[in-house]
Amino acid sequence: MEFSGALKMVHQLLLMRLPQARCIVDATAGNGKDTLFLATHSVTGARIWAFDIQEQAIINSKQLLLDNHCHNKVEYILDSHCNMDLYISGQVDIVTFNLGYLPGGNHNITTTGQTTVQALNKSIQLLRVNGIITVVAYPGYATGKEENNQVLKYVSSLPQSVFNVGCWQMLNQANEPPVLYIVEKKRGEVREGFASRED
Ligand code: SAM
Repeated sequence: MEFSGALKMVHQLLLMRLPQARCIVDATAGNGKDTLFLATHSVTGARIWAFDIQEQAIINSKQLLLDNHCHNKVEYILDSHCNMDLYISGQVDIVTFNLGYLPGGNHNITTTGQTTVQALNKSIQLLRVNGIITVVAYPGYATGKEENNQVLKYVSSLPQSVFNVGCWQMLNQANEPPVLYIVEKKRGEVREGFASRED
């Protein structure tokens, strides 16, 4: 595999974790390519929640998974990822965000820094020990740059005693290439501002 971008890197990372994962969240379903990747590489019995605020995205994702016979693992949710805790009651192993707008859709309907940080905060609370959150952010356009700054600020503030946090970006590509953020929960300790659910 060529290491030529954040999307390739995140898929490699997910491949390492999917064999152990039972509860998986695709926070931004879009056209369903990432949901299909998760469904294809997860074990039988894994459950995937796929969120998007656009009906067209949910329709496209459902169709892609139906076409590939991976439909039965996935619950599609037409709602903001900020509300993921309303739909998911237990702990999750993986939450993945691919930020931005729906490819082929309206570029003005996009993830935003404020709601993404809210959703990250919900994800942190649902995350199981050894679970991971991945975020691919796109600083190459104005809204995406602002959002990337907010994501960077948020994940950088997570306590080192509870989380491993890192990021990855191509350094020799033009136009501010996408950034991959990785958050791994290493223990279930509750720290100020980051209530952790360990039920
Ligand atoms: N994972 C997708 C794929 O494989 O095709 C690509 C995701 S696309 C870059 C970003 C998606 O996030 C868009 O479809 C957009 O509608 C969705 N989105 C924007 N704000 C959202 C929110 N608050 N909650 C959930 N999805 C949101």
